[in-house]
Amino acid sequence: MLQGQMMDRPLMISDIITYAADIRGDQEIVSARVEGDRHRYTYADLAGRAAQLANALRALGIGMGDRVATLAWNGYRHLELYYGISGIGAVCHTINPRLFAEQIVYVVGHAADRVLFLDATFVPLVQKLRDQLPDDLRYVVLGDDTHGLEGALAYETLLSQQPNAIDWPSFDERSASGICYTSGTTGHPKGVLYTHRSTLLHSYGLLAVASEVGLTPTDTILPVVPLFHVNAWGLPYAMPLTGTRIVMPGPKLDGENLFRLMDEEKVTSAWGVPTVWLGLLGEMRKQGRKPAGFDHVVIGGSAAPEPMIREFEADFGVRVVHGWGMTEMSPVGTLTTMGPTLNAKPEPERRAFKSSQGRRVFGCELKIIDEAGNRLPHDGEAFGELLVRGHGVMDGYFANAEASAQVFDADGWLRTGDVAKIDGHGFLYIVDRTKDVIKSGGEWISSLDLESAALGHPAIAECAVIAAAHPRWGERPLLVARLAEGQTTTPEDVRAFLADKVAKWWLPDDVVFVDDLPHTATGKLSKLTLRERFKDYVLPTAVE
Ligand code: ADP
Repeated sequence: MLQGQMMDRPLMISDIITYAADIRGDQEIVSARVEGDRHRYTYADLAGRAAQLANALRALGIGMGDRVATLAWNGYRHLELYYGISGIGAVCHTINPRLFAEQIVYVVGHAADRVLFLDATFVPLVQKLRDQLPDDLRYVVLGDDTHGLEGALAYETLLSQQPNAIDWPSFDERSASGICYTSGTTGHPKGVLYTHRSTLLHSYGLLAVASEVGLTPTDTILPVVPLFHVNAWGLPYAMPLTGTRIVMPGPKLDGENLFRLMDEEKVTSAWGVPTVWLGLLGEMRKQGRKPAGFDHVVIGGSAAPEPMIREFEADFGVRVVHGWGMTEMSPVGTLTTMGPTLNAKPEPERRAFKSSQGRRVFGCELKIIDEAGNRLPHDGEAFGELLVRGHGVMDGYFANAEASAQVFDADGWLRTGDVAKIDGHGFLYIVDRTKDVIKSGGEWISSLDLESAALGHPAIAECAVIAAAHPRWGERPLLVARLAEGQTTTPEDVRAFLADKVAKWWLPDDVVFVDDLPHTATGKLSKLTLRERFKDYVLPTAVE
């Protein structure tokens, strides 16, 4: 080997914020605050305050490898935490406030957090859990005062005592920078430790498709995806790297508030899960227009239903990018980036690509395998379990050898738990989660595809398809639906609606209407809870 002769500088998260301050120092960051007002400052301010925070953390005795937790909405202070904590080699642990109380207690203990930074909104939650949290955990309330949290410090006081400059340390790029826990529908949440290296390479991966998702200095991005949900899909790093203008939405994520914020701040690209867009689309329909300047919507976290994609694109002229990823990755794996040739395809074909989960981002490889572990062709037909490999994919859960032992194949690829097919252009189609797919007479029915088709029915607001036991077929699909306000329909009508949209043998054996559907901490339908609720359900077809 001939050794190359380039400087071996580690990839550091602090480099991003220093770069952003240097060349985009005057770019604006707007935050709808918990306090109720709208706060404005610049990347230069962000860098200065991240430095103040880093100095304050050091004064509190925090250093390399120490875990520091956050319980906060999307706002400028949360961004400062991302940089201030990781910048000094500590590990940013973003806690999802929607976890069950005992899961929050568990993750704080498992991560061994030393300090917890929280929005004032979460003071009552922390007061309730305090007895079960470690005695030596320090609390910092993100604001001017401590909102009655005993023994806590106020963030603004903490920062005001520190200089707004720092020589960010340089260290091994493989050091942990952040930790996220999966929402753990079964068993305890599991922790994924990202590194400085994986974070930077993942950000560069997003830059390769930047213009297609609105990651440019002339765009304004609204991350609706929470900073506590897998690093907000990498936006806290990718946005400063490109110098995009940022609008942070705070806690109010209903359609009306989002519409107003986007309209007034001229957001061009908004990122979030399908549930959030249901609300926004409702408001857009009501107003008969889109928020001014709205150009891209990036949808991920769970499958974007086809009717949603169609409405955004055809009715409102908003370009949809659909993506797939997971906590165990940095987290974006695929995006429906098209390029000029595919964009020029006739509409039905183009829309089919758009409704897929997209093509891999740089640094993430995909493979699908059959039950014997053999690779399946990327022909758009064969489907099997999806595995991933890359510099943004974890190689084990944090301090959990048992769970880690179960998720890799013999070649070291990560098993995603998703069933998928991949076509000749590289588009990934998630068929289902391994445990959600309906096995009817030895054939598989995709619950996701059925749900997507059923959502096209005007009376259905939200729905889930689960497997119900059947004496002849083993399992048959049961559609559980929540009706849109003021709407009525019947099981027969829904089945008739689906008849020309899915294979005949896919038609759900029954349709049940409910007032509400259960959701997980990340806002996804909880099929586990639903299956539990319907475990004794007897299908009419099972009786005949
Ligand atoms: P959690 O499992 O905690 O809800 P994750 O965000 O890690 O949170 O979930 C990852 C899983 O979410 C994927 O394995 C996949 O099943 C599902 N998922 C994510 N994005 C999509 C998408 N666009 N379409 C279908 N499923 C998706």
